[in-house]
Amino acid sequence: MAVPFRKTSKARKNKRRTHYKLAVPGMIRCDHCGELKLAHHVCKVCGTYKSREVIRS
Ligand SMILES: [Zn+2]
Repeated sequence: MAVPFRKTSKARKNKRRTHYKLAVPGMIRCDHCGELKLAHHVCKVCGTYKSREVIRS
C-alpha cells in the first residue's frame, strides 16, 4: 500500500479543512407571524403553512 512520503503538517491539514463548513438549514420568515421557521415546514409558533392554519392550538 502506498504511504505518504512526508508528514502532513498542522498548517497544511488546517488549510485543507478551511473548506469544511457547517451547513445552515434554510430558514425563512413566517408570512403569518414573522417568526423564523424552516422553509417548506409548518410554522411552530402559529401553526400555519402557506398562510393557512393547519395546527389548532
Ligand atoms: Zn408563524
